[in-house]
Amino acid sequence: MTRKIALSHRDLLAQEQGTIIKPWGGKTPICLVFPNTYHVGMSNLGFQLLYRLLNSLPEVVCERAFLPEEGQWREYERASTPLLSLESGRPLSRFKIIAFSLPFENDFPNILSILQLAKIPLKALERDPRDPLIIAGGAAATLNPEPLAPFVDLFFIGEGEEAVLDFLQVFQAAGNGKEDLLKEACRIEGVYCPALYEPLYDEEGRLREFAPRAKAIPSRVKRRWIKDPGLLCSGSAILTPLTEFKEMFLMELNRGCPRRCRFCAVRAIYLPFRNRALERLIQEADQGLQQGKRIGLVGSALGDHPGFNELCAYITAKGGEIAISSIRADAVTVERARLLAASRHRTVTMAPEAGTERLRQVVAKGLRDEEIFSAVEALAGHGITNLKLYFIIGLPTETWEDIEGICTLAKRIRHHMGKGGRSVGEITVSIAPFIPKAWTPFQWHPFEEVKILKKKLQAVKKGVAKIPRCRVLNELPKWGYVQTLLSMGDRRVADILLKVHEARGDWASVLKSSYINPAFWVYREKEEQELFPWDFIDHGINKADLWKEYREAVG
Ligand code: SF4
Repeated sequence: MTRKIALSHRDLLAQEQGTIIKPWGGKTPICLVFPNTYHVGMSNLGFQLLYRLLNSLPEVVCERAFLPEEGQWREYERASTPLLSLESGRPLSRFKIIAFSLPFENDFPNILSILQLAKIPLKALERDPRDPLIIAGGAAATLNPEPLAPFVDLFFIGEGEEAVLDFLQVFQAAGNGKEDLLKEACRIEGVYCPALYEPLYDEEGRLREFAPRAKAIPSRVKRRWIKDPGLLCSGSAILTPLTEFKEMFLMELNRGCPRRCRFCAVRAIYLPFRNRALERLIQEADQGLQQGKRIGLVGSALGDHPGFNELCAYITAKGGEIAISSIRADAVTVERARLLAASRHRTVTMAPEAGTERLRQVVAKGLRDEEIFSAVEALAGHGITNLKLYFIIGLPTETWEDIEGICTLAKRIRHHMGKGGRSVGEITVSIAPFIPKAWTPFQWHPFEEVKILKKKLQAVKKGVAKIPRCRVLNELPKWGYVQTLLSMGDRRVADILLKVHEARGDWASVLKSSYINPAFWVYREKEEQELFPWDFIDHGINKADLWKEYREAVG
């Protein structure tokens, strides 16, 4: 390890509270890898929980590794040092297992970069028995792991907390080589070994069959979920000022969402919706308060937790503060606005998603304009006058009226904020393109053409520019195209990922020269009976019901 790398590791560890350092002797060493930077990875509660869970096992030592920042990356290359773990500074190749956490598709290319930097062959077929086993799990893998199939030995589909424990028993008992291990592992509910399945395509390139390579291999992989919400563990494992949630104690209130917005994959990833018990949350809040921390409440449906007000009131009465990342407009009440203001919230994030009620109905967001305005007034009445509003463009059935509706809505929100002479803060209109996601009713729908998205974006920017103290932040449509490819693609997209990796991230040239037109996955409306690359996963969702909902939405 070079002095520069050693110093940067030492600096990171010195600022952490809760780091677990275990001796290696006689244990199975696992390197938990987040395919993005330390800052992003350590802001992810799921990553932290897995770190704590694995280290709670006496027979395991779990360390972490991240995508190095640019300067550090150059240092690794300059010194020809393989990527090292944070805790003990050992090369990743010395671990028995490398476990990638995959919340977002956009991080898929980073997996290849990390394996290369670790000097581990990228493809599973090219690795020998001395190389670590490469496993992966998380939301993106749960929806559609196929674009990563050649690089990963096995995936955890669904909530991996229990499945990983079952797998470790199999791993520790195994002794007959990787193939036998994979065959044994694929019997565990929630474990998928891509090498044990063969995809077959028709002459037009559509998936015709997805067949197990042997009789004993299950034809479908059941997504795993934790049945007892009491077992959902929570609370940050490591506190550090170097994350998005600086020195905040994170607590998970619920998993999943009881709503059914048609563009959103949260339902499929975390079905069924589970609230954690209030008594347990209060105990955890006490733990966070003892450390003098702000309590960050985590969940996709915070306002749907029946004990939300009581928990917030408990924390604020004890002198603590709460922090939330966003809240549904129809969950904002005067009491909740008061609680947020008491915790020094000056900005609140809400997601109208679409500019008009018509389009919100199409996507089943179920939010009326009046509900948004009433939330804005409740918040502004308590001095919360900065808003971040999330919108999606390119949604199914969207018209130019819906695009204009975004600007009109922002203008009306500003008006409601300033009612009665109240001072008006800043409104940020955040725009992202619609990405079709597996296991949603919109999985059949194509991505909007990039050139049209650009025009729509320009129209929003022009309209918003006329509203005082209102600005637009946006994701680039071209990256929406790439994300759609990685969300909707099958195993053949792995070749594209490999070429992009070899071209050092030059997506444009690789997409242009790809032997299969990427538009096949991105711009094509799929057929009702089409076999999707992710259909082998059993989420407990009926595909025919999704199709019915899709048709209801698009008419
Ligand atoms: S968009 Fe939000 S409210 Fe709608 S289903 Fe997803 S998490 Fe729930």
